[in-house]
Amino acid sequence: MNIHFYRRMTQVVVLIIIFLIPIFDILRYDVAAKELYIFGSVWTLGLPTDTFTDMSKHGSAAVAIRFVLKAVLPWFLILTVFPILGFLFGRFACGWFCPEGALFELTEFLTLKLIGRRNIYMKKSNDPAIKRGNPFLYGFLSILFLITVPPITGIFLTGFFIAPAVIWREVSHLQISAGLYTGIIGVTIYMCITSIFVRHIFCRYVCAAGLMQTLFGWLSPYSLRIRFDRKNFARCTNCKGCEKVCFMDVLPRLPRKDINCVNCGECIVACEKELGTDNNLFSFKFGNKE
Ligand code: SF4
Ligand code: SF4
Repeated sequence: MNIHFYRRMTQVVVLIIIFLIPIFDILRYDVAAKELYIFGSVWTLGLPTDTFTDMSKHGSAAVAIRFVLKAVLPWFLILTVFPILGFLFGRFACGWFCPEGALFELTEFLTLKLIGRRNIYMKKSNDPAIKRGNPFLYGFLSILFLITVPPITGIFLTGFFIAPAVIWREVSHLQISAGLYTGIIGVTIYMCITSIFVRHIFCRYVCAAGLMQTLFGWLSPYSLRIRFDRKNFARCTNCKGCEKVCFMDVLPRLPRKDINCVNCGECIVACEKELGTDNNLFSFKFGNKE
C-alpha cells in the first residue's frame, strides 16, 4: 500500500464524515427555525433574558465577554484554520481532504478513459499515457455518475439547512419541498459545471480555502513541500511519470517552490513505479532548505 492508497482512503473517509455531519445533527443552520444547531443544541450567546435590561457595569461586561467567547472567537478560529494549515503543510489539505478535489480527479479519470486526455478542451503535454477504455462502458459510467452522484450529494448537503428527518420524510413520501428541490438542483448544477468544465482551474484560481493555504504556504519558511533530490538527478530516466500524474500541472522536478502543488504525493508514487521504492527521487520535507 502506497501514498496513493492512503490518500484515496482519506478522501473517502472525509466524504463520509461530511455526509454524516447533518445526519448526526453535528452542524446545521436550520432555515425553518433560523437557528444554528451544533451537536443538536441551538447555538446562542446563552444570556438570560433579563441581561439586556441590566445596565450595570457587571451586566455590560457579562454581555461583552459572552459575545467575544461565543460569537467572535469561534469565527476567528474558523477563519484561521486554512492560513495555519497553509503555513505548516502548504496545500496538503487540498490534496488529501478536499471533497471537490476528489470529485475533479474522478471526473478527470473518466474523461481520460473516454477521450484519452484529462482536459475536455485540448490535449496537453503532461496527459498520462493511459489506455482508453471501452467508450460504451465509460460513456455509460459517466452518464450514470452525472445523474446519480450530484442529486444524491444535493440531498445530503441540504441536510446542513433542513433537518435530515424532514428530508428523509420528503424523500420517502416523494413529496419534495421547494427547499429540498433548491438544494438538489443547486448542488447538481454546481457539481456538473465544476466537474465537467472547470475542475482544477477552480482549485488554482477560485477556491478561497485553497488560495489562503497557497498564500501562507508560499510565505512560510517551514511549510511541507515535495522535494526533488537534485544530487541524484543522474538516476532520473526522464520518463516524465511524475509530470504526467500531476493534475495540478506542476513540474515537480524543478527546484522552485510551486504554489499550485497540493502535496498529494502522486509524483512520489509515479517515481517509485519507475525507479523502485528505494531509489525514488521525491520526498516530503518541511522548510525551504534543500
Ligand atoms: S507536484 Fe507532486 S505532490 Fe505536487 S500536486 Fe503534483 S503530483 Fe501532487
Ligand atoms: S518519475 Fe522519477 S524517473 Fe521519471 S521523470 Fe520523474 S523523477 Fe525522473
